[in-house]
Amino acid sequence: MHRGESRIKMKTDMKNLRVKCPYCDHWNRVQVNKIFIEQPTSESKVKVLIPMYKPLEISNCKKCTKIIAKPSELIRIERTG
Ligand SMILES: [Zn+2]
Repeated sequence: MHRGESRIKMKTDMKNLRVKCPYCDHWNRVQVNKIFIEQPTSESKVKVLIPMYKPLEISNCKKCTKIIAKPSELIRIERTG
């Protein structure tokens, strides 16, 4: 058992994710892979998979050119509503 360890469970297909630039509020399209992170829980028999997006490459905002996404930083899928 590797307690406290989360790992990438699987990969699915690529998609274009709309990402809002935190600096200038411009909407950009970022190529991402949808992945699932296995999250350890206190109950060892329960597995929780958290869907997240992994950017394929470093992406800059089209408007202000600041970096808004990079492969080392996963994007959490936010549920609206
Ligand atoms: Zn921007």
